[in-house]
Amino acid sequence: MIDDVKVQVFRSQLRGTLLEPTDPAYEAARRVYNAMIDKKPRLIVRCADVADVIRSVNFARENDLLLAIRSGGHNAGGLGICDDGLVIDLALMKYTRVDPAERIATVGGGCTWGDVDHATHVFGLATPSGIISTTGVGGLTLGGGIGHLTRKCGLTIDNLLSADVVLANGTFVRATADENADLFWALRGGGGNFGVVTSFTFRLHPIDTVYGGPMLYELSETADVMKWYGDLISSAPDDLNGFFAFLTVPPAPPFPEHLHMKKMCGVVWAYTGPQMKAEETFKPIRAFKKPALDFVGPLPQPALQSMFDALYPPGLQWYWRADFVNELSDEAIAQHIPFGEALPSMHSTMHLYPINGAAGRVGKNETAWNYRDATWAQVMVGVDPNPANNEKTISWTKSYYDALHPYSAGGAYVNFLMADEGEERVKATYGDNYERLVGIKNKYDSDNLFRVNQNIKPTKKKSGTVVSA
Ligand SMILES: Cc1cc2nc3c(=O)[nH]c(=O)nc-3n(C[C@H](O)[C@H](O)[C@H](O)COP(=O)(O)OP(=O)(O)OC[C@H]3O[C@@H](n4cnc5c(N)ncnc54)[C@H](O)[C@@H]3O)c2cc1C
Repeated sequence: MIDDVKVQVFRSQLRGTLLEPTDPAYEAARRVYNAMIDKKPRLIVRCADVADVIRSVNFARENDLLLAIRSGGHNAGGLGICDDGLVIDLALMKYTRVDPAERIATVGGGCTWGDVDHATHVFGLATPSGIISTTGVGGLTLGGGIGHLTRKCGLTIDNLLSADVVLANGTFVRATADENADLFWALRGGGGNFGVVTSFTFRLHPIDTVYGGPMLYELSETADVMKWYGDLISSAPDDLNGFFAFLTVPPAPPFPEHLHMKKMCGVVWAYTGPQMKAEETFKPIRAFKKPALDFVGPLPQPALQSMFDALYPPGLQWYWRADFVNELSDEAIAQHIPFGEALPSMHSTMHLYPINGAAGRVGKNETAWNYRDATWAQVMVGVDPNPANNEKTISWTKSYYDALHPYSAGGAYVNFLMADEGEERVKATYGDNYERLVGIKNKYDSDNLFRVNQNIKPTKKKSGTVVSA
């Protein structure tokens, strides 16, 4: 039980807002994107600046409070919130400063990717992010960052130039390739284990108009489409990105009525080469098989980044399972088909995100993100607005994962792990980078203050006592 006087003194030291369960704004503030998560923190601090973050980290540490960090609140396992402890909510720290001449952007820890795209697109520039623009910059970046520009520009972390970080002891440091280089290495894939990142600086690319969108096929054609797609993306030029999906066509314009609520398979393309070459690039793709729906064409980069936002508003029930995948064998494809046919709800889906191309050319040990030689990050996603259907969607997700896991490469993209998957899955994900991450955790957070995440457990307490792993 925390002393009320201490809480009031803490409140008086903040520029931002401190919310307690009795505050009218508390109920909305404790909600995260996945409505399946229902956690009740003792305190939520909406930090206004770095000073607020430092005070909050110190307050949590000094009062032995469990500490969670929230950027966009999108983590499906609910790792941006906690029960009983203190939540540092960065949502007020929204700013994006673009330097168009240097092609860099400095982004506040509370930005969403929509905020960043908004600021960079006016200069005809972009940096790689995810496929839903309401996702937070913080969690997505620290886990790696996979999206439409992965094959062209690498993961989000491959474009991170520096990070400002509040450490567990309350000190404020900058991490770059030259300054606190061990920390910078760990931040690029190691999640929120090492501190609170208050600001990120990214490299930008001259990407303005892209040629992209969904191309859908009948489910009866899945085997052919998956095989063809797998071969194509394994050797495609970096300019061509495309993720495979099973989905249900939403019952609304612009989709043609005869396809409404139809389960289909397809590819969401993003071509970022010279636009005058786009039609030519897509000639063999269109020649492979006539798609039942072809919404691929030129569009502003932020329009592609936010194309699925309306379909996935906050407040749905989410459960997912994931793996890395090296190849789409005939046997694996045969396992996929019945699960694509049995999508349990309109929002449920399966995506295979390519991580070859530019992302695959970064060395396995150059950043904490280890699976550089995998071809895809695969995720089975059970989503439904109605909690009464959770059993059905979770069961489909788990069975699908179980059926395909034997064909996988071992670990999973850390941002696609649920909260309850266990230490072995985290270790598998980091592979031979795990021990180095433990060493850096020992150095920067030996008491594991930052543990509401896919936790890398320290083996050394501050006192120097070695604890068993
Ligand atoms: C609809 C949807 C679409 C998605 N699409 C993609 C995609 O296309 N590509 C992709 O790579 N991922 C995608 N993801 C996964 C996403 O990357 C993770 O869910 C990620 O954790 C979300 O980040 P957040 O900041 O919104 O989450 P939060 O819940 O706020 O935080 C998640 C974790 O990150 C840590 N964290 C967040 N910010 C900071 C910070 N500033 N400093 C220290 N730690 C921090 C938190 O401690 C927590 O452990 C998607 C998720 C959803 C729900």
